[in-house]
Amino acid sequence: MVDTRGKPAPSIVIVGSGIAGLSTGLFIKCAVPDAKVTILEQHSSLSLLGGVILTPSNATRIINSVGLLESFKSIAEDASVHLLKHGESDEVFHTRRDDAQGPAPYLITMRGEFTTWLYNHFCERGGTVMFQQRVKTIDETPGEIRLGTEQGAVFSADLLVAADGVRSSLRSILNIQPNPKLPSSSDACITTCEVSSELMLQDPVLAKLYHHSGTSIWMGQGRYIISASMPRKNMYAVAFFDDGPETPWHVPWVVPGDLQRVKQRYNSFGDGPTRLINAAIATESTRKTASQWTTVIVGPFDGWRSKFGRAVLLGDAAHAMVPDAGQGAAQCLESAFSLSLFVKSMQATADIPRLTARYQDFRKSRVEKVQAIARNNSASYRRKTAPENSFASGQDFSWLFEYDITTEIPSPNYLEDGKAASKSHL
Ligand SMILES: Cc1cc2nc3c(=O)[nH]c(=O)nc-3n(C[C@H](O)[C@H](O)[C@H](O)COP(=O)(O)OP(=O)(O)OC[C@H]3O[C@@H](n4cnc5c(N)ncnc54)[C@H](O)[C@@H]3O)c2cc1C
Repeated sequence: MVDTRGKPAPSIVIVGSGIAGLSTGLFIKCAVPDAKVTILEQHSSLSLLGGVILTPSNATRIINSVGLLESFKSIAEDASVHLLKHGESDEVFHTRRDDAQGPAPYLITMRGEFTTWLYNHFCERGGTVMFQQRVKTIDETPGEIRLGTEQGAVFSADLLVAADGVRSSLRSILNIQPNPKLPSSSDACITTCEVSSELMLQDPVLAKLYHHSGTSIWMGQGRYIISASMPRKNMYAVAFFDDGPETPWHVPWVVPGDLQRVKQRYNSFGDGPTRLINAAIATESTRKTASQWTTVIVGPFDGWRSKFGRAVLLGDAAHAMVPDAGQGAAQCLESAFSLSLFVKSMQATADIPRLTARYQDFRKSRVEKVQAIARNNSASYRRKTAPENSFASGQDFSWLFEYDITTEIPSPNYLEDGKAASKSHL
């Protein structure tokens, strides 16, 4: 089929309706409105679990470039000021300020809201999400890719995007081999919970925290806390990062969080965090909704593409990283947006293997550099001498936050322009 530009309107199937799959669908529909984009999701609805998702400037710049920043702001909070504190003394040792107002503000949202927002915009642009379709088989030829689901449906596509998350089964179906040691646990466990604004405002110390727009991060030996005010949701979101129990790879990924364990683990922390933990424990609904999971690192893989190049990994399936740089979702958005521009510059569906190769070349080295920063933060945030952590050390992170993917892919005929792949995308 040819679209209104006289170019092929590709048929694209995306597996997974997480942030990676939905953002890929949305950006492709923004770039090529006539593309037929179908997302297959194994569950019967969107997964709305999870705590805060940081959307730093490298991510919001992309959202702005597709004209959706104002809409995004309606579900997000300003997170432009980050207070880094010593856990035990509760004293601020570093304040990091990011842009709050421009075209690339540092924002924060909740995973459930973000996912729903992406879903709504994708569907508004004519994208389709089919729930209860668990992809089980993939048959790829040089000209086409066919998928079969556990429910007995068959789909064919020009391009398959495997955005099926950290425990991707498509990775092995497509025979994309991981480094034998990976995916691996990062030895860090996250427990998240939400404290109501009502409770926060009853205590003067917690009220001060609640009124701070941005994040508060307390660091200590072997553990740290990151928290943020979410006034739109009338609550304060808290995440505890430590060496708590590991979630086995084969059980449900997210399990109920144990706030009594958290209290024990952070018992030497100062007044602010102690009051926060006590407030969390005091509320039955907070105790019941607290959740916990182990963070993992996925990759690096030698490549993200299938044998004939008609399928490619994206998001956590390709590059899950520990969340300590606040870049997990941002890297999904960068991957999704770059793929959408390559789809836009395609002249014929026969270009798809070249397209996936360019996408992989363009993204892999940057993503791997971000994964390394996240790993480094994970270790350094949990040291007693926390000030040495990279974000407080004066290191230049402009390559990360000021990165403008819209100018890194300058040519409308990017697929033809081999040199663009070696641009300064680091
Ligand atoms: C439950 C949960 C909570 C999280 N909470 C946070 C948080 O608080 N803060 C944070 O920064 N990050 C959080 N993350 C991580 C963050 O959401 C991801 O790093 C990022 O959004 C990228 O996700 P993704 O879309 O690649 O994968 P996922 O969000 O895991 O989405 C993958 C999707 O693929 C579907 N799927 C898998 N296999 C198949 C198949 N064979 N057929 C069809 N569908 C399939 C899954 O059901 C899922 O919906 C969380 C992730 C999960 C899963």
